[in-house]
Amino acid sequence: MIHARQALLAEGWARDVRLTLADGRIAGIETGAAPQAGDVRVDTLLPALANLHSHAFQRAMAGMAEERQEGRDSFWTWRALMYRFVGRLTPGQVEAIAAQVQLEMLEAGYAAVGEFHYLHHQPDGRPYDDIAEMSRRIFAAAQQSGIGLTHLPVLYSHGGAGRAPLGEGQRRFGNDIERFGVLLEAARAALGALPGDARLGVAPHSLRAVAPEDLAQLVAMQPAGPIHIHAAEQPQEVRDVEAWLGARPVAWLLDNAAVDGRWCLIHATHMTAAESRALAASGAVAGLCPITEANLGDGPFAGPAYVAAGGRFGLGSDSNVLISLTEELRLLEYSQRLRDLGRAVMVAGRGSVGAFLYAAAARGGAQALGRAAGIIAPGRLADLVAVDSTAPALCALPREKLLDGLVFAARDTVVTDVWSAGRHLVREGRHVRRDDILAAFRRAMRELTAD
Ligand code: ZN
Repeated sequence: MIHARQALLAEGWARDVRLTLADGRIAGIETGAAPQAGDVRVDTLLPALANLHSHAFQRAMAGMAEERQEGRDSFWTWRALMYRFVGRLTPGQVEAIAAQVQLEMLEAGYAAVGEFHYLHHQPDGRPYDDIAEMSRRIFAAAQQSGIGLTHLPVLYSHGGAGRAPLGEGQRRFGNDIERFGVLLEAARAALGALPGDARLGVAPHSLRAVAPEDLAQLVAMQPAGPIHIHAAEQPQEVRDVEAWLGARPVAWLLDNAAVDGRWCLIHATHMTAAESRALAASGAVAGLCPITEANLGDGPFAGPAYVAAGGRFGLGSDSNVLISLTEELRLLEYSQRLRDLGRAVMVAGRGSVGAFLYAAAARGGAQALGRAAGIIAPGRLADLVAVDSTAPALCALPREKLLDGLVFAARDTVVTDVWSAGRHLVREGRHVRRDDILAAFRRAMRELTAD
């Protein structure tokens, strides 16, 4: 049982809320209820967000690629460094890094993660004896951290648009569609070790890395569950895809791939107004990763047209250069303000930006990960976050402005408790296994940087 002084329920704010949990779900909600002995008591309870896009291993290179080299640094020079780094990672290191990443996500207030998983093979490109070895390492990390996992094994067949061969730095990622089918089934079998809220989806990496006929076959392989794809992150990628397929990536997908509510288009940064409206109408989720998109110089998402058209979106931490829910929300809105020279941009119609952003990202993230979560209501997964509304950043605000305080004035330190499918993983702001997970991460980083 959880007792909250106040909670944001599906129908709005309520006081003195008592939640009964059963089998990872919300079984009952009482309002105006007194706390009882044995209840976990919290101040303000919110639906917890899902982090819809992560490449866990990239956390280990945070801060390593911020030095200017000769000429102009870009997404593509960052990617070259990432490939060199990737060549060294062992399965044990990947597990330790992923567990630390998931711990940081939970402490930031996320209950679940979509792991867009493309580091599959040995450094020379040969599969491990168990082709799903690296997927198993992600699952082992999720067992330690307790995070709700939607595993998205990635099909990555080509080094660039037009079926370019894989480069040396991409060997660990590569599969043709047949071998990917073997990997997917091995991952599906291994996923059974995780709690019942874990989900399996598929992720065609991008229209750079997957040819149209393979994309169609991949979707046929996985007739249910989430489908995630990187799309329109960089202008160069838009030009390359247009030159090859005759349409911009988002437009091509909408016209050729039966994009619907199962789909999540990661970034969708460079869209025309027509693409924004059409993506919104498809029911798919735009997977926005504001911190990474800023770090890599991708550009700001075209928010106003998309939000006005009722487009769905959620948040991801992608490169994991910094894992912070409040910073992610804040930068999403601030990137729009800086471009448009206006205020209060990411809201449909009138009203609180914080309330709109938070609720939309909660619903969109849950949809994208195939989790019955995103609102506090009976029958939903108990993906919950408690924040302390008496913290200095929030204490002066009426509850109608509390989410504006969270988005614009607070840090993740206001998070006190997090539950993922009922698993109480963060208490008093700390992950319950922080010491062990952190020690293993430090060991892995020492090994990795030894020479
Ligand atoms: Zn990504």
